[in-house]
Amino acid sequence: MYLESDFSTAWQQLRNAQIDCQQALQLLRDEEGTLNLSLLDSEVSQRFFQLFPDEQDLPPVVPLLLWQSCYYLGSPVTLTPNLVQQIRDRTLTQVKILPITEKSYRCWHHTRDFDVNRIGAAPLVNPLTGKHDAEDISETTELFLSKAEDQIERIKTIIASALRNRASDVHLEPTAEGLQVRYRIDGVLRKVTKLPLEISRRVIVALKVMASMDIADSRRPHDGRIGEQYITGDGKALGMDMRVSTLPCVCGEKAVIRLLPRKNPFSIVDKLGFSPKVLPTYKTWLEQPQGLIIFTGPTGSGKTSTLYTSLQAIAKENVNVVTVEDPVEYVLPHITQTQVNEAAGMTFAAGLRAILRQDPDIIMLGEVRDHETAETAVRAALTGHLVFTTLHTNDAIGAIPRLHDIGPDPSLISDALLGVVAQRLVRRICPHCKESYPATDADFKRLGILPSQIKAEPVLHRGRGCSQCLESGYMGREAVVELLELDEPIREIIHSGNMIDLHRYLRETDFMSFRQAAIEKVFAGITSIDEVFRVLPRSALRVNSSRPERLPKVMA
Ligand SMILES: [Zn+2]
Repeated sequence: MYLESDFSTAWQQLRNAQIDCQQALQLLRDEEGTLNLSLLDSEVSQRFFQLFPDEQDLPPVVPLLLWQSCYYLGSPVTLTPNLVQQIRDRTLTQVKILPITEKSYRCWHHTRDFDVNRIGAAPLVNPLTGKHDAEDISETTELFLSKAEDQIERIKTIIASALRNRASDVHLEPTAEGLQVRYRIDGVLRKVTKLPLEISRRVIVALKVMASMDIADSRRPHDGRIGEQYITGDGKALGMDMRVSTLPCVCGEKAVIRLLPRKNPFSIVDKLGFSPKVLPTYKTWLEQPQGLIIFTGPTGSGKTSTLYTSLQAIAKENVNVVTVEDPVEYVLPHITQTQVNEAAGMTFAAGLRAILRQDPDIIMLGEVRDHETAETAVRAALTGHLVFTTLHTNDAIGAIPRLHDIGPDPSLISDALLGVVAQRLVRRICPHCKESYPATDADFKRLGILPSQIKAEPVLHRGRGCSQCLESGYMGREAVVELLELDEPIREIIHSGNMIDLHRYLRETDFMSFRQAAIEKVFAGITSIDEVFRVLPRSALRVNSSRPERLPKVMA
């Protein structure tokens, strides 16, 4: 697969009389018509295509050999005698057509003008249909890798392939058999390929050089950044940041590359995944002149996207929006972003204090960890600032006791807090292979509802898996949101500090819990039952049968 420079093509071997023509053809093409692209000779190709300055005139053919005044061409389609004659007339040679698979033709076409030195994120176009190709990631990545001549080209190839397939992270893991390459796509890791053991270490070292890391030290974790350009589908060059981190492990150093294309990835608030029932409520929070909005969820739950999208929606020229973040992941227009730097004394608390002297209207505080920051944030939210922050809790309700623990006065919290957004990301069912099926009793039991509680057709959806979604059945993700709005009774409960009362109150009201939001998405055909159970915390889906629960309005 990975060629050395002294390697010879089938044509060279034929010319050196190491094999005969029949053997050369057998090397190039197996019985099923699959080509061994690495054995093709570029000179044969060049000579042939020189004769056809306008390739549009040509049917799909791959030049395999030129031998004894005969071009051996592979083609995925049947050529009419007339077409074959036209080729003969132009080449002034004999022409023999050998059937090859469509896939081989496509692969050959994709690698023909492949440039290892630029990171292309454009989807592959099928030369036979002119449509976007659903690529077999492993196959095309391996194919492109075979064209890469050094480690840096290999890394760029891996990154380009990751971008084409909407991956957010690339994992390079040393194993006893070689360097395992995996991509995280829609939140799930997928094996892509394995680089040979001989080059494993060299690839990691090259990556460390690209990220300006200390290559001499492989016993400690490192982190670094790479700034690169990549080419989009419409041929534009855009900037991209890559955050690289390494970790020494038993088989060597593992590297993870987080891909951060600088193209603003944030959409609009309406498209984040909020249930139609709670979206208007959330939007009213964003219009408030003051108050505190808390976002919760583990790393990778999409809360940063929701935060940034919301900030962008309200960052107009008449307001001053300032953030303190660790790290600043995306640079956003119309927003002053600052980066926490503990060593320089720029902590969240110090940053917040400094921001407050800068006449802010809207403040985004990456995280609240200590008493002082929490107290200052709450006070800011009570004195004419709209404050956004995040907390690490499992669900929306969990934010209340957490904030209590950190320490501000409960009465201040209950006055300042507008509400809490808790979220997770679920994968959307692939629209290309989506199918419906009647919900079974087991499905209802799993969701903890009765068939009679469903107003709509009791139909569920799933993705069969197709080439468009890389056989996963899913494409893209959206948020499942649990929204806790602080109404008067909740403010009073928070003030009194009794969490049991809060739970009881929420069960009796129309609280959009994770469970309700998930049931809504499942019956709306946005995601599958399995996905909901994969993503949401178990506690959120547990049904407490001893206490009746109100059902979402859409189904009641
Ligand atoms: Zn699909």
